[in-house]
Amino acid sequence: MLNPWSSEFWRLVLYVSGTWLLGLILGWPVWGLVAGLSLYIISLAKRFHRFEIWANQGVTEPEEFGGIFEDIAFRFYRIRSRSRRRKKKLTELLRRWQHSSSALPDATVVLEKGGEIVWFNRTASAMLGLRPNDNGRNIGNLIRNPRFIYYIHQPSHPEPLEMASPRDLSRMFSIRILPYGGVSGRSEQLLMLVSDVTHIRRLMTMRRDFIANVSHELRTPLTVIMGYLETLKDEPDCDVAAMKEYLERIEAPARRMKTLVEDLLMLSSLDTGAPPSPEISDIVRVMPLVKNLLTEAEQLSQGQHQFVLEVDDTIQIRGVEKELHSAFGNLLLNAVRYTPAGSTIVISWQSSGDGAKLCVRDNGPGIPPEHIPRLTERFYRVDVGRSRSSGGTGLGLAIVKQVLRRHDAELTINSELGVGSEFCCVFNFARLQRPDQRKFPGAASA
Ligand code: ADP
Repeated sequence: MLNPWSSEFWRLVLYVSGTWLLGLILGWPVWGLVAGLSLYIISLAKRFHRFEIWANQGVTEPEEFGGIFEDIAFRFYRIRSRSRRRKKKLTELLRRWQHSSSALPDATVVLEKGGEIVWFNRTASAMLGLRPNDNGRNIGNLIRNPRFIYYIHQPSHPEPLEMASPRDLSRMFSIRILPYGGVSGRSEQLLMLVSDVTHIRRLMTMRRDFIANVSHELRTPLTVIMGYLETLKDEPDCDVAAMKEYLERIEAPARRMKTLVEDLLMLSSLDTGAPPSPEISDIVRVMPLVKNLLTEAEQLSQGQHQFVLEVDDTIQIRGVEKELHSAFGNLLLNAVRYTPAGSTIVISWQSSGDGAKLCVRDNGPGIPPEHIPRLTERFYRVDVGRSRSSGGTGLGLAIVKQVLRRHDAELTINSELGVGSEFCCVFNFARLQRPDQRKFPGAASA
């Protein structure tokens, strides 16, 4: 097969020699030559015109152009098909990237070097309040925080910036800016990633406060114990009676430390242990549990309170007896400790809606409303002195809350100053065992 240039050459030779021979026969060889060349140019122009129409059509199979055009068309077709495939691949890649970054939990914004917005995902709209027509606007005009503006105009961003959300000052954002796009190491754009770190910050603050609180709670009784030990050391000739007195004084702070450590261990195991699922939990009979707690409460009360029991013995709980004992016990002992002599304490266990609730109600002094939302925080007390003097660690209601969370239940607190308080543990249907209810397979009976 001839190569395209040879075929084109022979085409020219054919045109020119044909018309030249005709011209020679007719006696005008030169005009024959001119006519041959003209015909060849016309054929060239026609093929070029067809080629142009075909090339503008998009990617279709090349026609039979003949000569050099056939080869050009074939190469053109190959390059075009390849670039079309690559374009398709890139578009798909871009579409997938945009789709997945739209669903990212972090706000993602592509910026020009000067700060103009090129693209942003859905989360950026929600977190930063960006709207579709903000494309092309400078981010510094939309997030008007001076620290942020200073940060984005830095030549490099090795450290993230933490700042309050522009829409909600109670939320904390961490902002990272990375070079984006560009070739041979020179990036033309910036990629801004914004994540909500409110929860992490809150946890870190909680951890710091918790450590400070534990240290503080342990230091006070420890200082007392150390003080008495120093005194004992300095008085080697101290008599037995004095020694006994010192030891008795040491006992109270030591006991307080023991209670605190026990509560901390309890909280830690509640925090880390897997929650007991209702299907495999034991059935806990509420009546005997409450009766046991009542004995403890009566001991603490020393006959100064009146107790009333309103317990429906037919409803039982699927759960961990030790944990429920601790939760209900905390509520009952609190009622004794925080109400004056002569108060009445009612313990009820009754159906409520779909589920059932255990309530401890007293007619004590009540709790000021501003304290109620914070009562279940670790170490939160309304009156620190009162709590400590009655042996409280400030962890009781935190334990109650954790136990209930593990039993898919919740704590409700109602209190009115001068009227009394009511603490209720509300259990849902799935956690209960009623006489008419069939048992879960595998559930052990009490
Ligand atoms: P504490 O170890 O101090 O008792 P809790 O977490 O059990 O810690 O209770 C938190 C605070 O809630 C207590 O310090 C007390 O001020 C208040 N409180 C709890 N129960 C009652 C109640 N029945 N009446 C009044 N105040 C209560």
